[in-house]
Formats: sequence, C-alpha cells, structure tokens
Amino acid sequence: MIKIQGKGVSDGVVSGPLYIYRRAEHRVIRKRVSDTEAEWARFQTASQVAIEQLGTLAEKAREEIGDESALLFETHQMMIEDSEFTDKIKWWIFEDELAAESALMETAIEIIDLFESIDNEYMRARVADYKDIVYRILCILCGDEDVSIDSEVPVILAGDEFSPSETMQLDKSKILGFVTTGGSSNSHTAILARTLGIPAVIGAKDVLNTEYEGKEVYLDGETGEVIIDADRQTAERMQRKMTDRQVMAEKLLALKGLPGETKDGQSVLLYCNIGSEDEVKAVLENDGEGIGLFRSEFLYLQKEDYPTEEEQFAVYRAVAERMAGKRVIIRTLDIGADKQADYFELDPEENPAMGLRAIRLCLTRPEVFRTQLRAVYRASTYGRIAIMFPMITGLWEVRECKRLCQEVREELKKEGIPFREDVELGIMIETPAAVMISDLLAPEVDFFSVGTNDLTQYMLACDRQCAGLERFVDPHHRAVLRAIKMAADSAHREGKWIGICGELAADPELTDVFLAMGIDELSVAPGNVLPLRHAIREMDDPEVRLTNMYERLK
Ligand code: PEP
Ligand code: MG
Repeated sequence: MIKIQGKGVSDGVVSGPLYIYRRAEHRVIRKRVSDTEAEWARFQTASQVAIEQLGTLAEKAREEIGDESALLFETHQMMIEDSEFTDKIKWWIFEDELAAESALMETAIEIIDLFESIDNEYMRARVADYKDIVYRILCILCGDEDVSIDSEVPVILAGDEFSPSETMQLDKSKILGFVTTGGSSNSHTAILARTLGIPAVIGAKDVLNTEYEGKEVYLDGETGEVIIDADRQTAERMQRKMTDRQVMAEKLLALKGLPGETKDGQSVLLYCNIGSEDEVKAVLENDGEGIGLFRSEFLYLQKEDYPTEEEQFAVYRAVAERMAGKRVIIRTLDIGADKQADYFELDPEENPAMGLRAIRLCLTRPEVFRTQLRAVYRASTYGRIAIMFPMITGLWEVRECKRLCQEVREELKKEGIPFREDVELGIMIETPAAVMISDLLAPEVDFFSVGTNDLTQYMLACDRQCAGLERFVDPHHRAVLRAIKMAADSAHREGKWIGICGELAADPELTDVFLAMGIDELSVAPGNVLPLRHAIREMDDPEVRLTNMYERLK
C-alpha cells in the first residue's frame, strides 16, 4: 500500500483506477521562415479557431456551471484578441522572421516572466491563464487539439495541474476525482471541482509515478489522502467513510425546511454568501434562509467599465425576487487590495490591504457609491434587502454612509421612484478598530456582521494574500475569538443582531462557541448550510457550550 498525502480541496471520498493525464508535448524549436505574411496569416487563423473554441467552452460552462465560469473563457478570448499580445507576436514574425509557434513562445515567455516577477496572487492566476491560451493556440498550430480520457470506466484523474479549459473540456462523467501534484486551494481546478461536487486533492507530490497508473486508488478530498493499493484494513476504513457520507447526505437532505435550532431551543439563522446572481440557485437548493453577504464587487470585477445603475438594479432586483422575501444583505462595493478593476485606475500602493479600499474608496468617490446605493434602494421594493458597509474603522464613516443613503432616498422620493423605507443598514466588523469601538457603532446601525477573513488578517498582522504564513495564522486565535465576543456583546447591549460572514462562520469546531456568544446568524457557502444545521440540531446543553466558549477565550 502506498499513501500520498496532499491537501484536500473539494470534499468527498471516491475510489477508482488512477489515470495519468498527458497533454500533447510540443517542443518548439526556434524556426525562421521566409514568407512572413503567410506565417502571420497562419497565426491569425489559429487564434480565430482558438476564439471559436473558447466561445463553445463558455457556452458549455454557462449551461453546466453558471455565468461566472463562462466569464473565464470569455476573458481568455479577450486576452487572445488583446493588441498588446498580438502586436508582440506580429513583431517576432515580421522583425525576426520567426515561425508562428516560435513567435508565440517568445511572446509567452516575455509576458509570463513579467507576471511571475510580480508577487501577487492575482498576477499568478493571470500566468495560468496565459499558459492556457498559449497552449491552446500551440495545439491548433501543431494540429493537435484532443483533450480526452481514454478509458472505458470512470477514473481518478491525475495531472500536474489542470487548466480551466482542460477541466471544462474533459468528460466529467469519466472523472470520479482529481488529484494534482501542483495547484492551490484557489486554483481553477479546485474551484471548479468544488462547484461540480467532484472530490479533489492537490499537492500530492508523487502521484504521477507511472507505476501507479491503472492501480486502484482511494482519494479523500477532505483529509487529502491518496491511497494506492490499499490494504484490507484501509480499504474497509475508506469504504466505511464512503457509506457514512452517503448516509449523512441523506440525513442532511431531510433537514431542508427545518430551523437551525438546538434541542434546548436556541436558534441561529443560516444564511449564505454569494458573489453573483447565479449562486442563488445553490442557496435555494441548500435551503439557505437568506443571503448574509452578497459580495457586490464581483459585478464590478466582471466589467470593463463601471456597471450602470440599471445593470446593478437588474441584478439586485433578480436576487431579491428569487429569494422571495428572505433577507438579502448586499455588501456595498469592496474593491481595492486583492480585488482590482483597471477602470478604477487606482494608484499603486505599498500596502493595498491597508490602502484606499472598500468604504474608503466609496467615500472618496461618492458618485460611484451613489450609483450603487440608488440601484440597491430601487431594488428594495422587490424583496427584503439590507445594506452592509465594509471595512469600517470609524464612527464618522458610518455616519457619512447613512447620510449618503438619506440623500439617495430623498432623491428617489423627488423623482417618484419607489423604495422601501425600512431597508436595514449594517456594517462589517472586520477591523480591530471597529471591534474596539463596537459599543459606539452599535447604536448607529441595525446589525453587525463579522468579516473574520479580514479581521483575522488585521488582528494577527498576517496578510491574507501572503503564502508561507500558515504557521502564524491561527484562525482560532484568542484575539480573534475575543474580538467577536466583544462585538457580539456590544451589539446585544443595544438590542441589535450580529452575524458572521467570514470563512470562520462555517468552522464546525466553533459552532457551539458562536452559539454561546449569542451570534444570531452565520453566513456560509451554500454547501455548508445543511451540515451546520445538522450540528446545531444535535446540540442540547447551553452549559456545555458556555464552558467551551470560556475554554477558547481564556
Ligand atoms: C471577510 O473579510 O471576512 C469577508 C467576509 O469579506 P471578504 O472576504 O470579501 O473580504
Ligand atoms: Mg472583508
């Protein structure tokens, strides 16, 4: 038996034969040509074919997963059409008389080198995108376009890493699970695997050893274990886990429609985090009781220019309508730091996480903010919308936000446009400053929602984008938990409610602690709603929960 330890990035246990994915290898030698015009035409034809292929993939992604995945392929189309990219290739063909393949490789090396030299997660993702489009065009130029799994039975697919197009193009009915030697939790494979519900493990270093090919493998997307030729005991353990998961999945389905309430009668609302209208489907399927965080900035990130009031209104309205009276908390634009859109033309910053981001940007550019607020208020008559402001550090910011909301309401009234007067206004508690003055902030708002992702980074002074800090980022750090307790106490003293919408909300080790703090709402990824509801409904003793909380805090 051989056990390879990787990192689980998409939950689930599966077993099947290991299939090593081999992509066509292209050894591009630097070749010169005499007919540069013909070579340029050859490149243009290949890039046209690539654009068409990507269009088909975008359609497939839209049908199978949703608009956001389709967008990835549409972005690839734009990258191929980008004049900076094509001009470079043209230059190599005409000036250096290179063959199309060589010109493509020279350009790719130049761009990828540049992007890799910038230490930033976003740029690294762009490198993967460039590699993907370059490989696609190269395959077309070489007349080799096939991406398939040559197996009669479904397999566990192993590779170094899968590009988004490969993940999309591969026949999913043949894939039981993914295992890669490289990748990151937020790589496209991981995200798509989670969306498609296919178990996946990354960083499984030796898995591409050809000796393992065809062997029976157990893959555990939770623990990150990849077990080849399991001994009897291990096989039994994994089979048991598969059966248990099946039983649990059925149990969870039976919880739809039931409240998240402990046996002793304490209840907590289980809401969902979304980034686009598409995700409402998953919220409803998983019986989310509301939307606790609609990351509205994704609307801006998908665009080449500021989304108009009408565009935003249409999205907010659709989400509110589809949630049919359940609360939808729209977080106002949280752009800046790791979320950049070129058209904002933000100045480069030494410390973007502490820079002009989120509410700071909105208060600096009130015209952008006002457009969003108008769209949200206009949509408010179609459901139960609440507004939430991110990255608050001071009282004046909240007052300024409220003042702008008031102005927008008056404006709409004058224009005879209907809106709801009772739209709740809340703030995110995601800075140490907001925690420390939470007693002063609570009277100003209707609710708090703790953004534990940012709160953790600012409390522990650990950049959430920085790899290599794992040892120093303890998500259960007392400082973070005490901060949440402090904010909860401040909210409750003023009779306000408090939720948590950062990743920690879904941490099963802390559910009883959050209940003991009196957290009123947990907002999590749709797939976490039913498991959390199950855990909450199993709890029966408030004393035990309190003891656990004090253990964690002391
Ligand atoms: C957070 O910071 O915890 C949060 C929910 O917001 P985001 O992850 O979008 O910054
Ligand atoms: Mg945040």
